[in-house]
Amino acid sequence: MNNIYLIDVTNRDGVQTSRILLSKLAKTMINIYLDEMGVFQSEIGFPTLNHEINYINANLELAKRGAIKRIHLEGWCRAVKEDVELTFKNCPDIKHLNISISTSEIMIQGKFQGRKTWKDVLNSMLEALKTAKALGAETVGVNAEDASRTDVERLIDFANAAKENGADRFRYCDTLGADDPITIYQRIKKIAETTKFPLEMHCHNDLGMAEAVSVAGAQSVIESGVDAYINTTINGTGERAGNCDLVSTILALKYSHGFREKVHLDEHVDMRKSWKIARYVSYTFGIPLPINQVGVGANAFAHESGIHADGALKDRRNYELYDPEDVGRGEPEMLQTGRIITTGEYGGLKGFRHVYDKLGVHFNDDKEARKVLELVQYANLHTQKPLTDDELKFIASYPDITCRILTLNPHLSKG
Ligand SMILES: [Zn+2]
Repeated sequence: MNNIYLIDVTNRDGVQTSRILLSKLAKTMINIYLDEMGVFQSEIGFPTLNHEINYINANLELAKRGAIKRIHLEGWCRAVKEDVELTFKNCPDIKHLNISISTSEIMIQGKFQGRKTWKDVLNSMLEALKTAKALGAETVGVNAEDASRTDVERLIDFANAAKENGADRFRYCDTLGADDPITIYQRIKKIAETTKFPLEMHCHNDLGMAEAVSVAGAQSVIESGVDAYINTTINGTGERAGNCDLVSTILALKYSHGFREKVHLDEHVDMRKSWKIARYVSYTFGIPLPINQVGVGANAFAHESGIHADGALKDRRNYELYDPEDVGRGEPEMLQTGRIITTGEYGGLKGFRHVYDKLGVHFNDDKEARKVLELVQYANLHTQKPLTDDELKFIASYPDITCRILTLNPHLSKG
């Protein structure tokens, strides 16, 4: 039986969202946490965007040094030849790429306004795909933007053309979040059975069904005898009403009636890392987790009303599908409470050394410590919120990489 793998797109779809932001250090920490969690791939950002270049190259270097071990670090760009060429010019070591183009008639008419026909779209994708492979991409995912409003036969042609020209996966984008579980199941069945090509589900939450639709689509894919990939974001962040939430998706694949008896989820996924990653992303985005957030919200294991509390006390399985430990709850708070010395943007050497001593990180001399202190000051300038213990440890372990991540070179205004 085929598997369902997770591709997290927080560092691309999550951050391109209006009104919410991540520092490059936070994006780096997210890649590290996703790797620790056993997620298959992280869509790390935009290699064609100048301010992403140093961050992406630094993360590819982290992978080379073994700080990021197994996860695919994948860039995203438009399915046009020029973008792919620029991607490899900016980030020559990138090995995984997803290329995207609109396939629905409504978007082709509405966005290209007569400048491109369906045939042009297909050709642009094929040219971009061949360019990516020629420039050294090991895997290429081919994204059909607005797939859920595209004719199924057209999607089959698109996926088959991509498959025949060396693509590794086809991404079905429910860009407007308009699909429902039954419709997507049927549409995906036709595509997967005809093409026998691995499929990615990329679903938005405009109708509140992102996880349901993603899981239904993935089920259809594996029943057709190919591997499925679900695109997620941590805490469901993403355009408008957001994307398919990582933790909810894992829980759905492990505990829903249809899936619990047969394991289809990539065996590397460690659900016990859920709490840590959800809390970090909430902290670093500055977006509180709703009290009823699936698995990681404050009320996910709380019982008060008479009948529920009585039942839960007698046997937790009366009212709980899974345990707090299953999602790794119980990690300490992100920030300590009580008397504390912190280090950051305006910190000095004494406080800095005190903080690092407590973390078990020691420096040979003041010269070495001052170098890391400077990076801590700059990192904090970027994040604009107290640095977490993991961020502080990362900075001390990889000072040169940190320096690269924090270095931004605006090109155009240099003249
Ligand atoms: Zn999206």
